[in-house]
Amino acid sequence: MFGLPFDGSGRFYRGNIHCHSTNSDGRLSPAEVIARYRAEGYDFLALTDHFIERYDYPVSDTTEFRTDGFTTLFGAELHAPALDNGQNWHIVAVGLPLDFPPTGDQESGPELAARAIAAGAFVGIAHPAWYGVKMRDVEAIEDAHAIEIFNTGHQADADRGDGWYMADLMTTEGRRILGYAADDAHFNGRPDHFGGWVMVQAGEPTPEALLEALKDGQFYSSQGPTIEHVGIDGDQVVVRCSPASSIHAAGRPPLNRFVHAEPGETVTEARFPIVAFAGESCRITVVDERGRRAWTNPFWLDAWGPGIG
Ligand SMILES: [Zn+2]
Ligand SMILES: [Zn+2]
Repeated sequence: MFGLPFDGSGRFYRGNIHCHSTNSDGRLSPAEVIARYRAEGYDFLALTDHFIERYDYPVSDTTEFRTDGFTTLFGAELHAPALDNGQNWHIVAVGLPLDFPPTGDQESGPELAARAIAAGAFVGIAHPAWYGVKMRDVEAIEDAHAIEIFNTGHQADADRGDGWYMADLMTTEGRRILGYAADDAHFNGRPDHFGGWVMVQAGEPTPEALLEALKDGQFYSSQGPTIEHVGIDGDQVVVRCSPASSIHAAGRPPLNRFVHAEPGETVTEARFPIVAFAGESCRITVVDERGRRAWTNPFWLDAWGPGIG
């Protein structure tokens, strides 16, 4: 179902879909960035260099770095005027064609995003807390797939890496929006890498299958913990995960339920009554003993018939 990747077949692939290289303002070459992620155990990466004139509008062709156990998606971080506060938009687009045309003279951020979506890309609103995105801004990008709910780099430099507040507000407004974690790595001195990623469920680790799975919400995000299953068992939402200090279900604000392990112990399963969420949306957070989190996308209990698990 949309927003949850636990009822399909296939396996999970770990990826980072927001990072930079010397094709824009990153410190490492594309080859070095990809080598670092591959060595860290990632299955795929999207280079998303800044798509602006100064860098000659790069959509990096990373085909040569695809190997048996590792693949790449083509992407860019798109920029155009302007948020309500005057800042230029930052829009992550993954799955772009290599010949995606440069930003037009009069093109706005929402128009550029619409063009990326029409070209087949998965489009995310990058780091909303870091540069002050307002609800009136995101409402103008009607078809964006996702909000960046965690950004490692801007957690490291501004303590503004979290985007869940905006995603929750949009969900409350009825938008079926996804949430992804990403590094925004530049390798330029901040600890901005290997801090948050997506786990995408796909039948095979091809760029096409991974891109479709992203658009379909067949992924969750993590800083470390594994979410093994989220489903329905009778009148309960059941969660199974790697050993955790706490497991949380958050519905329409302020509805929530949680399980905390006893001090020094861990839990690997939680059950929450569906009725607590009034048939609306819900999302799950798993927190491990080191404080690292994993998050499901928001999912909608109204789409779930009884007995489906
Ligand atoms: Zn940015
Ligand atoms: Zn970036």
